[in-house]
Amino acid sequence: MALCTICALKDSHPGVALGDDGVCSLCRLDVAGDLLANFAYTNRVFEEFARSGPNPHGDYDCLFMYSGGKDSTYLLDKFVNEDGRRVLSYTFDVPFESTHAAENIRLARERIPATFVIDSDDAGIKTVLREVLNRPAVKPGTYLDEKLPCVSCRSFFVIRAIRYAFLHRIPYIVLCADPQQILTMESDVREVVRGFYRAFGERLLSAEFRADLETLLFAEDDELPRIIFPFVANRYAYDPERMVAELTAKGLYASSPLETHCTLFPLLNYYSYLNWDCMFYKLNAASHRRSVRRNENHERSTFSIAFPRAADLPGIEERLKSVVLDLAAGRGDAAVQQRELVGIFEELGAGAEAARFLAASFLDMRRTAAELGVRLRTAEAAA
Ligand SMILES: [Zn+2]
Repeated sequence: MALCTICALKDSHPGVALGDDGVCSLCRLDVAGDLLANFAYTNRVFEEFARSGPNPHGDYDCLFMYSGGKDSTYLLDKFVNEDGRRVLSYTFDVPFESTHAAENIRLARERIPATFVIDSDDAGIKTVLREVLNRPAVKPGTYLDEKLPCVSCRSFFVIRAIRYAFLHRIPYIVLCADPQQILTMESDVREVVRGFYRAFGERLLSAEFRADLETLLFAEDDELPRIIFPFVANRYAYDPERMVAELTAKGLYASSPLETHCTLFPLLNYYSYLNWDCMFYKLNAASHRRSVRRNENHERSTFSIAFPRAADLPGIEERLKSVVLDLAAGRGDAAVQQRELVGIFEELGAGAEAARFLAASFLDMRRTAAELGVRLRTAEAAA
């Protein structure tokens, strides 16, 4: 197996090809044309939103997808309290996420005069995750396929938000993806809906939901909500630490080392290793190596996940793989695995408390899988 000499992505990574010179297509910027077209489109829509006045068709100027994390809390406060937008704050209650964000949402409701809506569909989203985790991956695969469970979960609730905005005649949907996520997200609502249909078929949606989406697919362009990514406008200034400091000063943020923890994180790693021989955050780790190698300003984080400079990422990836696949197969000594996992997460920059918490969630992987109805397979069975 060969590794890219710059970012250490493997030649087997979905959607990535290694050239004769040992440099991968992401490092050669072969994909730059697509990415720039996507940036141009998202920039145009954002500028149109920035110039727009109040929505003449309803009570809200935008539907704001609010997770309770730092990025979305920061922008919700700005849109409402500084820009005077009439905002419908939409939160999808993802049953796999830690309850920590709930505290930030409570603080926001006290201090930000928006309309807050909380939506949920536990049965629907669990069906999507069960289906994608049990289904064999389609080889050779395309870009981001190693994150398909995570991408599918987000598509599921973005589609619910699109439907909500469409039915309530809200012209814009605000998504606070960080600058790296923006590059990999579909921004045209018709394409988001079509992509989900292609991946999961119609059977995962109720008849009523399907009928609404079909109306949406055949609607006139100016009746469709448009997705905007506000971080596009200042992507070179994206600075998570400054945002957290401002929010904390305003009493809008209760930080935690486990802020963005998803209880499916162990299963997401299992999926990536089983099907694509990589850890879940491999693209982020590769991006980090690329910027350390090429960019004088590498200390600034341009995405949510930070990697310590000194961490031996390829080594960590192989050690984590061995533990994850052993746990999936029910092999190994739990005490040894616990020590190894805590060590790995500390090398990745987690504090002692967060590292122990994460290790416990990995040791619990078989129970989490059983609860969701996921049949754990071995790497040999998947090959
Ligand atoms: Zn590379």
